[in-house]
Amino acid sequence: MKTTLFLIAIVLGSSVAVKSAPPAATAPPRGVDLAGIDKSVAPGDNFFAYANGTWIKSTEIPPDRSAYGTSSMLDELTTERTAELIREADKSGAPGSEARKVGDYYATFLDEESIEKKGMEPLKPALSAAAAIADKKALAAALGKSVRADVDVFNATNLQTPNILGLWVAQDLDEPTRYSPFLIQGGLQMPDREYYLAGSPRMEEIRKKYQAHIAAALKLAGIPNEEAKAARIFELEKKIAQAHTSREDSIDVVKGNNHWPRAEFATRAPGLDWETFFAAAGLDKATVFVVWQPGALTGIAKLVGSEPLETWKDYLAFHAIDQASTYLPKRFVDESFDFYGRVLTGTPKQRDRWKRAVTATDGALGEAVGKLYVKKYFLPEEKARAEEMVRNLITAFGRRIDKLDWMAPETKAKAKAKLATLKIGVGYPDKWRDYAGLEVVRGDALGNARRAALFELRRNLDKLGKPSDRGEWVMNPQTVNAVNMPVMNAMNFPAAILQPPRFDSKGTAAANYGATGTVIGHEVSHSFDDQGALFDSTGKLSNWWTKEDLAHFEAAAAKLVEQYNGYKPFPDLAVNGKLTLSENIADVAGIAAAYDAYRISLNGKEAPVVDGMSGDQQFFVAFAQSWRTKIREAAARQRIVTDSHAPAEYRADTVRNLDAWYPAFDVKPGQALFLAPGERVRIW
Ligand SMILES: [Zn+2]
Repeated sequence: MKTTLFLIAIVLGSSVAVKSAPPAATAPPRGVDLAGIDKSVAPGDNFFAYANGTWIKSTEIPPDRSAYGTSSMLDELTTERTAELIREADKSGAPGSEARKVGDYYATFLDEESIEKKGMEPLKPALSAAAAIADKKALAAALGKSVRADVDVFNATNLQTPNILGLWVAQDLDEPTRYSPFLIQGGLQMPDREYYLAGSPRMEEIRKKYQAHIAAALKLAGIPNEEAKAARIFELEKKIAQAHTSREDSIDVVKGNNHWPRAEFATRAPGLDWETFFAAAGLDKATVFVVWQPGALTGIAKLVGSEPLETWKDYLAFHAIDQASTYLPKRFVDESFDFYGRVLTGTPKQRDRWKRAVTATDGALGEAVGKLYVKKYFLPEEKARAEEMVRNLITAFGRRIDKLDWMAPETKAKAKAKLATLKIGVGYPDKWRDYAGLEVVRGDALGNARRAALFELRRNLDKLGKPSDRGEWVMNPQTVNAVNMPVMNAMNFPAAILQPPRFDSKGTAAANYGATGTVIGHEVSHSFDDQGALFDSTGKLSNWWTKEDLAHFEAAAAKLVEQYNGYKPFPDLAVNGKLTLSENIADVAGIAAAYDAYRISLNGKEAPVVDGMSGDQQFFVAFAQSWRTKIREAAARQRIVTDSHAPAEYRADTVRNLDAWYPAFDVKPGQALFLAPGERVRIW
């Protein structure tokens, strides 16, 4: 299940050095952007184009991005602000302080000169380790050592790891008061099994280029016979892909919740020396694991047993190079970007190095940077106004539950109980993460990245055996996104998404509720949708709906599947209504609850007319403008395959399911987005 607002962008390789100060970002418009509207389009025909058409015609996607829109604008602005704060920390951070670590991490990443000078020296220990593997037991240890806490099944939602397995330490779904180690399928450098298996000409082309990339990476690292090795490495990854569970099945919580006692791994998934593997991964104390994709785990273990040791050694060498490339000399960085950036997402130019340095620092010391960010950019009055909006959303959602005609009274009572215990974090966590145990060495870029990943692994391993903490944040305050955490029955709304044009503490309620109330409503509704129904108010995996509730919900949902299956961004590729269903339901529910909450906030008065627009018009246009995006074709295609969110323009068009949208824009039968009242999907 995917419960974030957007797909989390994967940040790729690196190249050009920009050491000068960044240019000042153009501040995004506040409230509704009148200049971006295209009045030549009828709102009822294409609401996304009406709200954004002029902006789309006059905007170019920056060459270092695969897509560009409201969120990327905020992301750019936040990156600049964050970079400034980090540089400040680098100037003034006292030795041993958190600010010092932040400054050192960033400055070291930026110091290309010393990275060039070191060449591939920092990579050598990993390559020697791979070369020294003498038998399958040593292979099991090497694979275990590669495990990091780098996946997340349904909070921030990242199902992909290039390591053979990913680890996620989270509340146990049967017993949420304690943590369990979850094991997730991995081992692929490309984003999904489809890239290895799908028969389309484009995927075949990508596979050829991927194999060439493997050979090029090996060659750069001075490994001989690169062509033959690349072919074998590719074949091994293809076999791993064949063992992988599909994405649709991987987001099915019930299919994933498989508890395996440690002692049974040897018989249930033979081929891998599990005891050696677990010990190397630091999981020697765990007695029960949650195996998210049992078929994949069994298949991967079998391949460890059946495939030649030499192939595995080459595979590990290639993975070591590929995963380190961001921190290596320019030739590695460029090769990596060539494939993962240009080929996979169609992005012509890399992001500036200082931006990548910010991303890397955020990844390693996220809350330390976040602490600096909110102090300057998220003032107490902004937190207060956002919290008021959250309260109104919860009230609106509660009233909608009361009014539902399809939900049984006993289910409604449970829904209300869940709403009452929901923990909503606004801006930043109550308790900050402690980075005292993380060593940052000035001048050791790759070492810093490795220590940060290990620090994160140990922080997660350390949770095992301790009571669960519902106050933990899974997103940084400086992240432009939001997240629902179903087992914690909690949500994070980071400070960086609560800024104009999404949220303006001095703006109109109509625009704020349209652009951000809908986001809050979206996330809240995830707690009550078909996936949320699986988790009760304590976060336990225990379906609190009656059979009739589910049947009714599924019938309404089927209409939405059909609605989205009808959207065809490319002649040969339609939106997958089933894959995107949960998110589409959340969008419909989010806008419905936000509309009510906006009305509640008016206290019975009419909203002020601004620039000739009624309150309702501002609300809906602000919503559609919050989805304004331009995206490159390759990236759009990648997302349709891997992302459980529909493309932005269709998310904007979901206004067609809301009755209030019709009179606000005088939408009539015969217009493309018109739905007769009976066809509008109403779930919440
Ligand atoms: Zn969502």
